[in-house]
Amino acid sequence: MSSKVSSDSWTGPPKWPEDAEIKEYAGGCHCKKFRFKFTHPIFENGGMKVTTCNCSICNQHGLYNIYVPQSRFELTSGSEDEMSKYQLAGKPSTHRFCPNCGSNMIVRWGDLVVVNVRAVDDIDVKGLDFFHLDGRNLF
Ligand SMILES: [Zn+2]
Repeated sequence: MSSKVSSDSWTGPPKWPEDAEIKEYAGGCHCKKFRFKFTHPIFENGGMKVTTCNCSICNQHGLYNIYVPQSRFELTSGSEDEMSKYQLAGKPSTHRFCPNCGSNMIVRWGDLVVVNVRAVDDIDVKGLDFFHLDGRNLF
């Protein structure tokens, strides 16, 4: 009997399909101190899968992750210096959240900005398709 959570095999952040339709998205924190925009293949309504993860921090925050190259991400209100930062001991990623409303918006992970889909405007999570990452056992 295994108690491991079943998950898809992880080969790193999902590759963007060559024929993907790219869309501009906007989002931000709940109090609107911080706003951002980025481009990414369409991920709602049967588009590209969104990654869920059962590691301690993703689980705690209920993060739904997509991976955006730094060059495709831009803050349109507020600066990253004003965000609160949370670095997990021994981990390469830094979580950034609003010091006012507490919204967890992005994670810095190397050259990627991991965007929390829950902070993206007008996304209904029940229309998302998920990739279940077993981060609890992988990282
Ligand atoms: Zn806020």
